[in-house]
Amino acid sequence: MCGVIGVAGLNNVAELVYLGLYALQHRGQESAGIVAVDADGIARGHRGMGLVPDVFTPRVLSELPGDLAVGHTRYSTAGSSALLNAQPSLVHYHAGPLALSHNGNLTNAEPLRDDLVRRGSIFQSSSDAEVLVHLIARSEGKTPEDQIIDALQQVEGAYTLILTIGRTMYGIVDPRGFRPLVLAELNGGWVLASETCAMDIIGARPVRELEPGEWIKIEDGKVIDLPPLPLKEPHRCVFELIYFSRPDSIVFGTSVDLVRRELGRQLAREHPAPGADCVFSVPDSANAMALGFAEQSGIKLEHGLIRNHYVGRTFINPGQASRTEKVRIKFNPVREVMQGQRIVVVDDSLVRGTTSTALVRMIREAGAREVHMRLASPPITGPCYYGIDTPTREELIAATLSIEEIRQQLGVDTLGYLSLDGVLAAAGNAEGRFCHACFSGKYPTEIPQGYAKLQHHREDALMVETDLIHTRQ
Ligand code: AMP
Repeated sequence: MCGVIGVAGLNNVAELVYLGLYALQHRGQESAGIVAVDADGIARGHRGMGLVPDVFTPRVLSELPGDLAVGHTRYSTAGSSALLNAQPSLVHYHAGPLALSHNGNLTNAEPLRDDLVRRGSIFQSSSDAEVLVHLIARSEGKTPEDQIIDALQQVEGAYTLILTIGRTMYGIVDPRGFRPLVLAELNGGWVLASETCAMDIIGARPVRELEPGEWIKIEDGKVIDLPPLPLKEPHRCVFELIYFSRPDSIVFGTSVDLVRRELGRQLAREHPAPGADCVFSVPDSANAMALGFAEQSGIKLEHGLIRNHYVGRTFINPGQASRTEKVRIKFNPVREVMQGQRIVVVDDSLVRGTTSTALVRMIREAGAREVHMRLASPPITGPCYYGIDTPTREELIAATLSIEEIRQQLGVDTLGYLSLDGVLAAAGNAEGRFCHACFSGKYPTEIPQGYAKLQHHREDALMVETDLIHTRQ
């Protein structure tokens, strides 16, 4: 998954983009980047591996002057974790420097890339963003906008894009609207970002969320609506509300915090835990859900697990080895809360089961008498092809084991998963607008063939530790 942001029409925007990226850090922790364009149309970029404050120093930011900038935080779902895949992509284009930040996953990137390579395109990275850049550059369209449209008509899957060409910025959401994008206003300038939490940090006032298929351009201080992309049935990613987005954001027109509380209440209705002494969350993603569970059930809410905030999200580091080790580093039980108690542990989801198995062991060792696990989403039975890092079916615990087998593997006394209807009711699914393929198997696009094997398979042999990248019209 990734976080994207763009700011136009304000001085020293790189600093604002930096702050926005800081607020979007949860959407990607592998790499971060900013490209800024100055009044003469010169684009300067900096990208690096690691967290936003590690990649950007005051010196680097001072070397990114301009009143137009686009930024990106990344973790890899397509393409490996390497500097060359860090975004924004920045290339020379006939109409000026072109910078692109992409959130999502193209489901037909592989055949498109193969075709482009056959026709002579040379790729520097294995990211989907570079496929888009080549499609735009190679299009026969007369204007940049014709070329963008032409490129978008060839791609399938999830793409929320912030794009700059010369001194114009574009915001684009794919016709199904898998990933969010918000427009905000700040002192006469404009901000586009994945989530409203990025607006809050810079004091921007959210104006509206882009609809599925919408694309806008920001030019000379004005926001211009462009003809929407050919409409498809909306499929907002419900996992954004369950897990991915920050609870203080408004995503898909709804407060993530309120949805999560309702998920917790619904979970308590569907899977109560009568006789339990206390309930606590697996922090932080399930905090609001545990709150809702406690509210609905009347069971006392506790802080049972303390999370070390200096460890990144466990899943975000690709590779099973790093995931397994990190669980113990990340959480520690509060023994006084556990000893002799019948406890309910609420988590938002169960993916591979590795975190939860280790946690339950830890909780039992801390003296809990009974452990009742409650999950605020249904069993994840299929991978996501649209940008969430759940790559292969074999790795998903619920794809191969029954709920009773999972209960045994986790070592809990009872296990309860929220139903899909419960999730959709809590998310306010009045118009049936969500993608829930990871739970239901109902994929709204064709599933790419051999996808599991494609993940992270490409070697980035050309990885170079470049620092500043420049391009001039
Ligand atoms: P596990 O017990 O290994 O299945 O891990 C479950 C934990 O992973 C839960 O606490 C979730 O909050 C978290 N989680 C769920 N989906 C993802 C994801 N795509 N990336 C990172 N963490 C996730």
